[in-house]
Amino acid sequence: MQLLNKVKNCNGCSACVVACKDRCVKMFDREDEAVRQILENAEKPQALEGKKKVPMINEGGCNKCNACVLFCPIFNPVDMPEFSEWYNYDEKFEKEDLPAFYRETMRNVRAGQHTEFVGTLCEIAALISLMGNKIRPNLILKPLVCDEEKRSLEECCKECSFYK
Ligand code: SF4
Ligand code: SF4
Ligand code: SF4
Repeated sequence: MQLLNKVKNCNGCSACVVACKDRCVKMFDREDEAVRQILENAEKPQALEGKKKVPMINEGGCNKCNACVLFCPIFNPVDMPEFSEWYNYDEKFEKEDLPAFYRETMRNVRAGQHTEFVGTLCEIAALISLMGNKIRPNLILKPLVCDEEKRSLEECCKECSFYK
């Protein structure tokens, strides 16, 4: 099973990586040869080009529990809050290791610390999904606006359901 056969226009949010307790999901560049074959033959539409990484499952270690699919906010949409304040997108907010960032945020929230999470809507949706579709009061979400110029750079962003 590959996620790209189940999830339309994967946006690289990486929730599936964290969802897999067996650590069978890893993110790869779209240019990677093995990924390319999966992308080209995916049952759901996927962009072949783009900077956003896509997940690949190590099928040898997978126990077919389906958690990665069920926690994917595209496959299983979450309740998004209404935001009154928005922040301008800036490259300084790009995360090198998104899964580590989600894990650290969740750890801090569960420990009761005041925690701020600045991210795009797809990253916020991933975090909410991983937290069981619940936002605890000590978690402050700060959404970044993906303007039209930014969205025009990636196929999955052009199709982004958060902006439709
Ligand atoms: S089906 Fe379960 S074990 Fe397999 S990759 Fe997904 S989360 Fe991991
Ligand atoms: S959780 Fe869904 S949208 Fe996010 S990277 Fe995984 S498959 Fe793609
Ligand atoms: S437009 Fe923004 S929120 Fe939508 S997929 Fe792209 S980066 Fe994520």
